[in-house]
Amino acid sequence: MSDQTATLEELKQSVAAFAEERDWIQYHSLKNLAMSISIEAGELMERFQWVDNAASNALVGDAAARLAIEDELADVLIYSLQLANRAEIDLSGSIKRKMAINAEKYPIEKVRGRSDKYDWS
Ligand SMILES: [Mg+2]
Repeated sequence: MSDQTATLEELKQSVAAFAEERDWIQYHSLKNLAMSISIEAGELMERFQWVDNAASNALVGDAAARLAIEDELADVLIYSLQLANRAEIDLSGSIKRKMAINAEKYPIEKVRGRSDKYDWS
């Protein structure tokens, strides 16, 4: 399985089967899953804590650090897929819709090459 071949539906089914086989769906309230996404995001951030930008970029070149980062990033996505399953959210549609909102909110001609907020309204 790779990003080039896997579909979101396959990944959603895989994480659903994992939870169902363990009878864990009963614990998958939307609250618990949303909290779990945040907790795992915190664990991902922890991997970069106390290092400067250059060192943080270099971490992915270190095999052990890279694996730890991959694991935490996977945890974030796994819980995101579980939440999408529980709430019956079509992630492809949601991403497409939100990217359209983002494109309207951040027009290229106004934001290209800028990280500051161009409009506080
Ligand atoms: Mg984790």
